[in-house]
Amino acid sequence: MGSATFRLVVMPGDGIGPEVMDAAIAVLGAIEARHGITFEKETVQGGAGQYKETGEAMTEAGYAAAERADAILFGAMGLPNIRHPDGTEPAPQLDLRFRMKLYAGLRPIRAIPGVPLVLASPRAKEIDFALVRESTEGLFASRGKGVMEGDRAARDTMVITRDVTERLSRFSFDLAKRRTTRHRSKGPRGTVTLVDKSNAFLSFAFMRKIFFEIAAHYPDVDARQHSVDAMALDLVRRPWDFDVLVTENMFGDILSDLGAGLVGGMGFAPSGDIGDEHGVFQPCHGSAPDIAGKGIANPVAMILSAALMLDWLAQRTANPRCAEAAEEIEDAVDAAFASGSIRSYDIGGQDGTQAVAKAVIERLGVATGA
Ligand code: ATP
Repeated sequence: MGSATFRLVVMPGDGIGPEVMDAAIAVLGAIEARHGITFEKETVQGGAGQYKETGEAMTEAGYAAAERADAILFGAMGLPNIRHPDGTEPAPQLDLRFRMKLYAGLRPIRAIPGVPLVLASPRAKEIDFALVRESTEGLFASRGKGVMEGDRAARDTMVITRDVTERLSRFSFDLAKRRTTRHRSKGPRGTVTLVDKSNAFLSFAFMRKIFFEIAAHYPDVDARQHSVDAMALDLVRRPWDFDVLVTENMFGDILSDLGAGLVGGMGFAPSGDIGDEHGVFQPCHGSAPDIAGKGIANPVAMILSAALMLDWLAQRTANPRCAEAAEEIEDAVDAAFASGSIRSYDIGGQDGTQAVAKAVIERLGVATGA
């Protein structure tokens, strides 16, 4: 297949966002020529800093640019003490999810060779699951719409719809099928586990019913169900036993941070917020103001998010070169850490943002022998 050009909107954001974004853009720059891919980049500013200056965290022109793009790379937005008058955070990343119907929050959790793991079991290095967090409804449907009853009570309402649950379930089963063919596949494959609380709540019982209706169309994928409390326990006891997990928005918010903690922390956790038409790719971490401006942020989560973007573009455009580029980035990250020659600050090393990016770039292609 010939060369491909993609329009990329880049939103660096606040805190360490611009630092890790520079690193990811450098890696993509090194990938472009090697794989005949060109990114036409448009930078869109936004975030808490911009909200403080202008009263608007993201302009309508910024959202419109995102909607026109083939993909969006997002750093991090939000800063402590910069809040709306009601105390909530300006959060364009959440608004993007709702506006562009990015219902599937994909958070791959994978042990990277050489990165220290909190679990002592030798099996911890087999951890390789993908959490799919529903990202447009659930408890977050109530965001900005909570109801106060005088000063006596506050109510937020959970919403589960058939339409989104069907799409989310299909996304998760398709993902499980694709994961069976990945070259680095470890652990059990071909399984999707719904994580819910269907023994207690009507909304989750409804979600479960729809999940198993969709499962019937995927006879080659094993569909299971797990209660969220049991999953919290099992993600600490035996996380290597899981493949694709799918869950409601709030549960996914919590479990994905737990997952990041299993594989080295937020600096190693990429994500993609994906809908039927758009994809926003960003690290799971926030703007980390405590380390911003020091050049010590770990860019791996952002770099792996760029790889996730390439993988998504590969599926959308049936372009195998994007898929190869995505794998090459993952392999280069693995090789950089596996050799022990690179250790980022968050795992006790002394390699800053640029040093990690450079180590990854040096191993592109070399790692795979491409
Ligand atoms: P948010 O609410 O936006 O998710 P947060 O304040 O809960 O953000 P983060 O900004 O993700 O959390 O930071 C949590 C902790 O993890 C901080 O101590 C931060 O320094 C650390 N951290 C986050 N990302 C990185 C990174 N890329 N490299 C190193 N440390 C990081």
